[in-house]
Amino acid sequence: MSTEFKNTPLIDFSDEENRRKMEDAISKVESELGKEWSLIINGKRIKCRDQFFSRNPSDYEQIIGIYQKADQQRAVMALDAAIKTFETWRFAPAEERAEYCFKIVDLMRENRFKLAAWMILEVGKSWVEADADVAEGIDLIKFYAHEVLRYAAEQPLTKVAYEESELRYIPLGAGIVITPWNFPIAILGGMTAGAFAAGNTVVLKPSSDAPGVARKFMEILEKANLPPGVVNLVTGAGSDIGDTLVIYPQTRFISFTGSKEVGLRINEHASRISMGQKWIKRVIAEMGGKNAIIVDTEADLDSAVEGVVASAFGYSGQKCSACSRAVVVSDVYDDFIERLIERTKKIKIGPAKYYENWMGPVINLKALASIMDYVEIGKREGRLLYGGRRINGNGNFIEPTIIDNLDRRATICQEEIFGPVLSIIKAQDFKDAIEIANDSEYGLTGSVYSENQEKLDLAKDLFHVGNLYFNRKCTGALVGVHPFGGFNMSGTDSKAGGRDYLLLFTQAKSISKKI
Ligand code: NAD
Repeated sequence: MSTEFKNTPLIDFSDEENRRKMEDAISKVESELGKEWSLIINGKRIKCRDQFFSRNPSDYEQIIGIYQKADQQRAVMALDAAIKTFETWRFAPAEERAEYCFKIVDLMRENRFKLAAWMILEVGKSWVEADADVAEGIDLIKFYAHEVLRYAAEQPLTKVAYEESELRYIPLGAGIVITPWNFPIAILGGMTAGAFAAGNTVVLKPSSDAPGVARKFMEILEKANLPPGVVNLVTGAGSDIGDTLVIYPQTRFISFTGSKEVGLRINEHASRISMGQKWIKRVIAEMGGKNAIIVDTEADLDSAVEGVVASAFGYSGQKCSACSRAVVVSDVYDDFIERLIERTKKIKIGPAKYYENWMGPVINLKALASIMDYVEIGKREGRLLYGGRRINGNGNFIEPTIIDNLDRRATICQEEIFGPVLSIIKAQDFKDAIEIANDSEYGLTGSVYSENQEKLDLAKDLFHVGNLYFNRKCTGALVGVHPFGGFNMSGTDSKAGGRDYLLLFTQAKSISKKI
C-alpha cells in the first residue's frame, strides 16, 4: 500500500553479485528472442496480416522478436475496446486504480534485471542506462499512484454559508499513448500509467524500434490483473495507423512523446473536428531538444568536462535531454577543448550487452545514416575535433564526435541530430553565452557551469528551458525532484514526474448543493 514517495536507488554494478544477476538476465532474455508476439486488444491476442522484425542495434543479425503490423482496422478495433472499457473503468475508485499501480511497481521491482536486459538487447542501452530507465519507470508509476490519491481527496474551495461545494477530478475518456524508443520503460510506462491511473483507457502505440519492451510491460500489467481493455497494445508503423488513431472522433486525448515533426502533425490533425466529435481533443506532446551546456570562465573545468561528456555521449546522445551544444566562454575555450578531447578518448564503445561498454550503438540504420549526414555537414560548417567515423561491424556504432569553429546558426547547431555529435560554440562572455543557448527553436534542458552566483541568478531569469541545471549534467531528471518537460518546439511542457502531470489527463467537475 501507499507509503511516502521516495526515488528508487540505482543498482550498483561494481558489486559482483549484481553483475552476475544482470549477466543471467541477459542470457535468459537471449533464450526468449525471435518469437512472434501478438497485439493485445481487450485482453485478447490478435494477429495481423503483416509482421515486422525488431533487431538488436548492437548486432542487427540478432532478431529480438517478430511483431504485428497493425492496419487501420486493427487500430479502430483497439480504440473501440478502449472506448467500451472506459464505461466501467471510469467508475473504478481512485484507491483501486492506485493499488493497481503499486502492484505494477512491485512486479517491475521483481523483474528489474530482466526488464533492463530487454532494453540492453532491443535498444542498445548500457547496463547503467537500462537500470536507470527501469528505476525511473518504477518511480513514475509510484509517483502517479500517490498523485491519484491526492487528486481524489477533498479539494480546497472557498466556503460560503448557503452552499456545500466540492471539486472532483474526473477522467477524460479513451485516448492514445504514442511513445518513442529511447526510454521504453520510463516514458512508455509513465505515460501509460499516468493516463489509466487518472481513470482513462488507453490505446498504446509503442515505437517500432522497441515493441519487445512494450510487450514485456503489457505482461506486467496483465500479471497485476489490470482489467482487459484498460490498456490495448497496438504495434505497427506510425505512418500506417497514427493518423487513424488521432483523427478518430471518439479519441479524447493524445499523449505523445517523440520528434517535433510527428508531434506537430498530431497536433494539427487533432485540431480538426471529425464528424460526430463532441470535444476538443487534448494533445500532450513532448518533443525534441537542442540542449546547451554553458561553460563559464568561473567554472570548475574538470567537472564541466564530465558533465558535457555524460550529457552528450551517454546513450550515444539519444536522449531528448542530451547536450548537443557546448557554449564555452572564450577565456577558457582552449583549456576546455583540450580536456574534453582527452576525456572523450577514454570512452569505451561496443555492444551494450557487455558491462564494460559505456557507449553502445545508435538505434537503427536510418538513424546511423542521418547522423553520419550531419557529421558531413558539420565537417563543412566547422572543424572536426574528434571522432566522426562509423565503427565497422554488425552494430550501428558511431564514434563520439566533437565539432567546433561553428557559427551559432550553423545547421548542426540548430537541428536535432539525436546521436553522439557535440557542437562547440565560442561565446564572447557570459551574456553572449546565454544568447547563444537561447538561439534555438527548442527549449528542453540546459545547464550552466559557473561558481559565480550572480551569473547563475542571471541564467535563472534568462536561460529559457523547461529544465535548468547548475554545475551538473543536463540529463538524468529525477521523478518528483525535476518535473520534466520543455518550452517552445520541445513541447507542451507536461512536466512528467511532477504534481501537474495527472491534471493533463483529467477534467475538473465543480458540484454545489444549496443548503
Ligand atoms: P518519432 O517521432 O519518430 O516516433 C515517436 C512515435 O510516433 C513512434 O511510436 C512512432 O511510431 C509514432 N509515429 C510516427 N509517425 C506517426 C504519425 N504520423 N502519427 C502518429 N504517430 C506516429 O520519434 P522517435 O525516433 O521514436 O524518438 C526520438 C524523438 O523523441 C527525438 O526527437 C527526441 O528528442 C524525442 N523525445 C522527446 C522526449 C521529451 O520528453 N521531450 C523524450 C524522449 C524522446
